[in-house]
Amino acid sequence: MKKLLFVYNPHAGKGLIKNHLCDIINIFTRGGYEVTAYPTQAPRDGMNKIIRDCSRFDILVVSGGDGTLSEAIKAMMQLEHKIPIGYIPAGSTNDFASSMDIPKKMCEAARAIVKGVTFDYDIGEFNGEFYVYVAAFGAFADVSYETSQVAKNRFGHMAYLAEALRRLPTYTGYNITVEHDGGTVKGSFILGMVTNSTSVGGLKRLIADNVAFDDGLFEVTLVKTPSGPIAFQSLLRDAAINKMSEKNFVTFRTSFLKVHSAADIAWSLDGESGGSHNHVEIYNHKQAVSIIILPDDKTAEQQLVHALDSERSIELPENTQGA
Ligand SMILES: [Mg+2]
Repeated sequence: MKKLLFVYNPHAGKGLIKNHLCDIINIFTRGGYEVTAYPTQAPRDGMNKIIRDCSRFDILVVSGGDGTLSEAIKAMMQLEHKIPIGYIPAGSTNDFASSMDIPKKMCEAARAIVKGVTFDYDIGEFNGEFYVYVAAFGAFADVSYETSQVAKNRFGHMAYLAEALRRLPTYTGYNITVEHDGGTVKGSFILGMVTNSTSVGGLKRLIADNVAFDDGLFEVTLVKTPSGPIAFQSLLRDAAINKMSEKNFVTFRTSFLKVHSAADIAWSLDGESGGSHNHVEIYNHKQAVSIIILPDDKTAEQQLVHALDSERSIELPENTQGA
């Protein structure tokens, strides 16, 4: 029997997992796994548990918010013998789950893990610390964890723009020099994002098209410091319709980034504080961690649907099959 380590944050998403724990463990067991369940007791506890015990298991499944996922990735990056990671989101916004098309309902996510395939995902390294999908500085960088979830759900993109507007008077831009694969960029920017994601802070529109999570490249978005209120209005208009004009934006793809500045700049990593730095080095570790995702070809999808149907048939009378 294959061994599955299930590490979950019992408090994530207001303790959402309590209603699903029995079903999730049942789905894994029925899927052929011997399950060891571990509720995390404190921040970093999940990470330490994974580093300590992971080598005895065939797959790792984690459930929680961004923090739990981030701990799992950091732990796996430290291990020589890596095993695939399945993720059951329990937090409210989850950029990673949305990028990876991981089902939002917990039991569906568990079924997807049992029937899933592995995908080798790129991992970022920021001054020696690993991150999953976004490193950012400047005006919007801290908005994703300070804008309330309720506001984000209700107003979406507008919540960000409103928050950015409210803060604008306090931002004068950062003079930085950026080295990357394609050369060097110098200038004043109010925001920078180095991403491996199709959405940031639950927003899908701020990132370039055709994002690949396993190409060894980040998407970089730098927002030029507006010269005044009128220029700022033009910037907001561009941002609202996802128009990355050269007047307001510098965008490119790269495998590494070095950001130098005279003053310290505060960064965020996956929506949490990444500290203040005047020199930052960011590297893309291509396909460093295996994530379990839903298969994307039709045959595999049909097999999954069939498997879900036959699973249901155990609980349902025969004449409701296929209904
Ligand atoms: Mg990429």
